[in-house]
Amino acid sequence: MRGHAPHEHGQGDGSGDRDAHAQSHAHHPHGHDGAGCGGGHEAGDVVGRAERLCQTRGLQFTRLRRDVLAAVAAEHRPLGAYDIAERMSAPGRRVAAVSVYRALDFLTEQGFVHRISSRNAFVSCGHEHGAGAGLVFLICRTCGGIDEMTAPAVESALDQTLAGTGFSPTSRILEVEGECGACRGRNDVPDQA
Ligand SMILES: [Zn+2]
Ligand SMILES: [Zn+2]
Repeated sequence: MRGHAPHEHGQGDGSGDRDAHAQSHAHHPHGHDGAGCGGGHEAGDVVGRAERLCQTRGLQFTRLRRDVLAAVAAEHRPLGAYDIAERMSAPGRRVAAVSVYRALDFLTEQGFVHRISSRNAFVSCGHEHGAGAGLVFLICRTCGGIDEMTAPAVESALDQTLAGTGFSPTSRILEVEGECGACRGRNDVPDQA
């Protein structure tokens, strides 16, 4: 019952970023200072990278697309389209959710954001994995933080599982709910009294 065409994940754009997903970017979740679920990337980096890639791909990076991406990238939790519209709206400048959805469609197709199905919300992607990469999202129920990892092992296990079924997956995205290291650390009372 979706209103829009299925995403054809940027096939044929000949971009070479497929090689890049061998490198693991499991950016050690919350390892540094324990200051909560820190997303690993700066919003400015994400936007700058998207701008360069749009240029390379001959695509328009409109102000709306840029603003939507910046709003998503500024947040470490998944954001819904209405939240994004609200953040972008100012007195005298109302941004309609439908415009945000359109921009999100574009950003998702280009791989700059990912849709988190279980939240019907979006996160930015600062990584350089290919369009068909197997992804695992770790969603913390306590703080709402989210971490993205590529998971070649999951990818090949899934391919093996599907072998012979005739089923061809268009995405291999796994959403795992639980509690992040930072929240677990906060809740674990140290034993040494
Ligand atoms: Zn990603
Ligand atoms: Zn957490």
